[in-house]
Amino acid sequence: MSNVSVCVRFRPLNARESLQASGASCIRQLDNECVMFKDEKDQEETTFTFDRIFYEDSFQADVFDFVALPIVRDAMNAINGTVLTYGQTGAGKTHSMEGPSIQTNDPKLKGILPRVTQIIFDLIERADEAAEFLIKLSMVEIYMEKIRDLLDTKKDNLQVKENKLHGIFVAGVTEKYVQSEKEMLQILQTGLANRAVGQTLMNCESSRSHCVFLLTIQQSDIEDRSIKTGKIYLVDLAGSEKVEKTGAEGKLLCEAKTINKSLSALGNVINALTSDKPCHVPYRDSKLTRILQDSLGGNSRTALLCCCSPSTLHASETLSTLRFGTRAK
Ligand code: ADP
Ligand code: MG
Repeated sequence: MSNVSVCVRFRPLNARESLQASGASCIRQLDNECVMFKDEKDQEETTFTFDRIFYEDSFQADVFDFVALPIVRDAMNAINGTVLTYGQTGAGKTHSMEGPSIQTNDPKLKGILPRVTQIIFDLIERADEAAEFLIKLSMVEIYMEKIRDLLDTKKDNLQVKENKLHGIFVAGVTEKYVQSEKEMLQILQTGLANRAVGQTLMNCESSRSHCVFLLTIQQSDIEDRSIKTGKIYLVDLAGSEKVEKTGAEGKLLCEAKTINKSLSALGNVINALTSDKPCHVPYRDSKLTRILQDSLGGNSRTALLCCCSPSTLHASETLSTLRFGTRAK
C-alpha cells in the first residue's frame, strides 16, 4: 500500500442548493471507491476512483477511522504523518477537520482533530507503564506565504529552518505541553479564536489561509531510556476555488494567486511522492510544503481528504477537486 491515501467526501446539499438547483447532483454514487461525475453541458460521464469515498450520509466517526486513525497509531510509533483537507470554500473541510466547533461534545458531529486528541490520551492511558509520554501542540496559520503563530500572535512572520537535531521546524513557534484532552481542546480553542481576531484585523477570511496544527508525541521508555518521537500535522487548507478572472483585482487577485501557487505546490509534491519513478520532490516551492517536508513522503504517511459539494451549482469546482485528488494518487 502506498503511503499516500486519497479520499473524497461529499457533504449533504445545503438549503440553497436544494432550492436553486432543485437538488440536482453532479455525481452518481457507484460504490465506496468509485464515483461518476456527470458533466451537465456535454452529458459526458467520468468515473473517478479513490481509496475511499464518503457520500452525503457519511459519519464523522467513519471518516476519522479511515483517514486519521492509522496516522495516529503510526505517530505513537514515531512515524510522522499528515492529514490534509482540500476543497473549495464551503465544501466541508473545517466540518471534517474540527466539526461545528472544536469543543462540541456531540459524538455525531466531532471532527478529526478532537477525535485525534481523544484517541491520543486514550492510547496513552492504555500504554505500557514503562512508557512516559510528552505531548506538544503548535498551531500556525499561513497567509500570503507568511507564517503566523496562533498561540502567540506577536509572532507573525516565522521562518522555516532545518538542522540535524530537529529536522525541519518552524523557528520560534510556540509549543504548548499538553497533559489532558480537556487542556488540549482549550488551547485549540484559544488558537482558533486568535485566528478569527487576526483575520478581522487583516480583513481576510479563514478560507484564504492554511491552518496548520502540529501534535508531537514523544515517548520515553523509563527502563531502557530510549526516546521516540512522532509528529502529526493536521492541515485545513485554504479554499481551492478559482477566483473569477474578471472582477478580482488588487489584494484579492494577489491572494488568489498565492493560494493557487501553494496548492499547486502541494499537488506537485504529492504527485512526485506517488510517482513510480524516483524524481525531484519540490518541497521548497511553498511555505506549506516546506513545513510538511519531513511528514510528507519518505516513511511518513499522508492522507488527503478532498471535500466537495455534490450540487450541479458547484460542478466545475467539484470536478477540479476530483482531478486534484486523482493527480495526488
Ligand atoms: P469549508 O471549511 O470547506 O469552507 P465548512 O466545513 O465550513 O466548509 O462547511 C460549510 C457548511 O456546510 C457548514 O455550515 C458545515 O456545517 C456544513 N457541512 C459541511 N460538511 C458537512 C457534512 N458532512 N455534514 C453536514 N454538514 C456539513
Ligand atoms: Mg473552513
